[in-house]
Amino acid sequence: MRLLDNIYAGERVSAADAVRLFELNLTELGAVADFRRRQAVPDERVGYIVDRIVNYSNRCVACCEFCAFHADAGMIAPYDLSFEEIIEKIGELVVGGGTQVMLQGGLHPDHPLDWYLDLLRCVKTSFPHIWLHSFSPAEIVHIAILEGMSHGEVIGRMKTAGLDSVPGASDLLVDSVRRRVSPRKCTRGQWREVMLALRDADMVSSATMTYGLDETLEERVEHLCFVRTVQDETGILQAFIPWSFSPANTRMCEVAPAGGVDYLKTVAVARIVLDNVDHIQAGWLTEGPELAQLALCMGANDMGGVLTEELVVQAAGIHTRLTAADMEDLIQNAGKIPMRRDSRYQELGHEG
Ligand code: SF4
Repeated sequence: MRLLDNIYAGERVSAADAVRLFELNLTELGAVADFRRRQAVPDERVGYIVDRIVNYSNRCVACCEFCAFHADAGMIAPYDLSFEEIIEKIGELVVGGGTQVMLQGGLHPDHPLDWYLDLLRCVKTSFPHIWLHSFSPAEIVHIAILEGMSHGEVIGRMKTAGLDSVPGASDLLVDSVRRRVSPRKCTRGQWREVMLALRDADMVSSATMTYGLDETLEERVEHLCFVRTVQDETGILQAFIPWSFSPANTRMCEVAPAGGVDYLKTVAVARIVLDNVDHIQAGWLTEGPELAQLALCMGANDMGGVLTEELVVQAAGIHTRLTAADMEDLIQNAGKIPMRRDSRYQELGHEG
């Protein structure tokens, strides 16, 4: 098959060919995705990080259709954590040997930029060695509009206050889909502008993909190709993390959940299309640990974080929990070598 020959020869795939890849059976697709994974990251080590998400508030003006976390969805009463509560949670992570914190909320109706800067300084003063991989492009766009600032100004002020990197929470970067499911969140053009501003600030990021939002395969591939283009422009995307939409408790609960084969094919196609992103993460939190193990044979090479106390996915009815020891076992049982890593994907040594 000429398409497979071209991929094995290292050629970049077009959007049309990427859609055709979904027609392959899992064995063929997995083999070529694993080949591309070995070209990008040649050894059999699989990274993971001990981190904690701190969901500091669920008050959000975006009210996305696919989200069960924001207060208006009715699953979690409105709340705002105090700085003291946030520091206490991070202290628990530090005691457990964790190295990274993800401060995550929504598009808060009231917090000015100074609130975020005070929070960053407070965390860095208490825990200077914790890596703050926090907020999101949508939050930065929201704060920039509230303050009448450029994205670069907001990012520069946050970096000075202690922000180390920004997760690239991307949902699906197709504007027709975004108008349908998250019309008050940033456009994909604004998402790209934040990535360019992060590059200019010498900061790294990542990209994600939430699929199963009733999109077509062409739209899913459009997202992948857009991420590839932004990575060509910036080179700051350390990882790509695809996960399926969890419809329970959302306004889109009538949408059928995507299946396991669809997930594995999506991971494999992501690895093949994203020839410029080294690390593809297996989504144990949304897909379950067993499917995540299989993803490690389909192009993924990283398990992401143990993510203590994540609330966004819990709000959609998913309660999977893993410790660092569980993570090491999972990776080993998949025939791979666990590698506890830092936020820059460098080895910290593994337990065990
Ligand atoms: S996905 Fe994020 S931006 Fe959208 S409603 Fe939920 S918290 Fe708000």
